Amino acid sequence: MSQFWNRCLEELKSSVPQEVFQNWFAELIVEDDSSLEVDSLTIAAPSSAKARTVQQSYGKKISDIVNRLANKEIELLWTVKETTFPKSAGITSDTTPTQIDITQQTGLLPNLTLNNIVAGKANQFAYAAALQVAHSPTAIYNPLFIYGGVGLGKTHLMHAIGHEYLKAHPNAKVRCVSAQQYVQEFMDAIRYKDSQPEIMRQFEARYQGLDLFLIDDIQSFGKRDGTQTNFFLAFESMVPRGKQIVLTSDTFPRSLKDFQERLLSRLTQGLLVEIEPPELDMRVQILLQKADRSGLKMPQDVANSIAKRLKSNVRELEGAVQQILAYTNFHKVPVTMDTVRIALRDIFKASAVPVTVENIQQNVAEYYNLKIADMYSKSRAAPIARARQIAMYLSKELTQKSLPEIGSLFGGRDHTTVLYACKKIAADRSKNEELKHDLNILEQRIKN
Ligand code: ADP
Ligand code: MG
Repeated sequence: MSQFWNRCLEELKSSVPQEVFQNWFAELIVEDDSSLEVDSLTIAAPSSAKARTVQQSYGKKISDIVNRLANKEIELLWTVKETTFPKSAGITSDTTPTQIDITQQTGLLPNLTLNNIVAGKANQFAYAAALQVAHSPTAIYNPLFIYGGVGLGKTHLMHAIGHEYLKAHPNAKVRCVSAQQYVQEFMDAIRYKDSQPEIMRQFEARYQGLDLFLIDDIQSFGKRDGTQTNFFLAFESMVPRGKQIVLTSDTFPRSLKDFQERLLSRLTQGLLVEIEPPELDMRVQILLQKADRSGLKMPQDVANSIAKRLKSNVRELEGAVQQILAYTNFHKVPVTMDTVRIALRDIFKASAVPVTVENIQQNVAEYYNLKIADMYSKSRAAPIARARQIAMYLSKELTQKSLPEIGSLFGGRDHTTVLYACKKIAADRSKNEELKHDLNILEQRIKN
């Protein structure tokens, strides 16, 4: 790693907000600075998207610092090198190296902490449970099972639990992994059991004797019988000893497909909490926080108008902030209603497509594994009738269609049938956790 580049990074670090530095500069690498002699320097970014945005938004700033420290005009050359962290720990002597160590030991990503999670109605129970779990010396809810739709903050909250737990219990053994990665590691260990037994030993060393075990997107264990058995045994060894397990899933636990029954019953024995799509106020807070941490000055009314249009998830809001950041930096303009309208043209266009009844029927049928024709057929089989009522309810909620219009799109049914369906589903939604989750997921899918 180049000493020269380390000095550039130090300068950058003190000239931009910490979040910006972490997001954009900490991962840039210069392996060899000997080309400075011929007035050039090659900088590697972890992805081409990142290279592009850094160039557009901060190219000038980097260039200024490089030229000043080199005392001459240097041409910057950009390349892509896929590593998550700088090879050398030399950037800063304080935080960075320990973060790298923590990530390697535990799988916890440094940016996903509790202090950059915006709390609101949508995540209040999950957030409270996360705090309790992190601060309690032995497991209270085991497992803590966090579920919800895509991009709502499950992964972030899970990593945050890990960080908080380590703060409260510095000597604890913590491991955080995606279910998919766990499956992969387990299968590798089995496959090479005879030829390379050290792979199995490493696997065991990583997962044995844990105080806190965090597994993301547990739905990926579906059909993986061997992994499920292996995890079941881990579960059986940890839980009786008060060791905490935290899981996330995009599926309501009882609806996890292709799971062993004994594992399902363990998974649902602790506390189940849902993260719901963020409400307007929370979306505004998220936009303001993300903007602030990216060094963007976003007026409240601008955040409000963006939040009114982008409803589906947090990742979408984050994308919007990045887009605005790139646009306003590149054109050297402030964040106003007008600049935002241009910067987010494509995102807005995509989110403004009106919802149709056909689209709702299609999504509901797919979600419940039915045929679209079941939506307007005469069948009274309970699962079909129920799905049909859900689709009618969503049609009333998400489109401008009247009850009679909806009735006719559902096989010529009477408006009183539609009205009954809407009332029934609305009433059940407030009582039935599973239905509530199904509707949240369906609304999210339909709006996308
Ligand atoms: P999920 O795992 O549910 O699909 P993620 O945890 O990956 O969602 O979150 C998507 C993005 O939104 C991440 O970049 C995350 O940091 C951010 N995010 C999610 N929830 C919040 C929140 N409440 N406050 C701030 N950022 C959030
Ligand atoms: Mg996730």
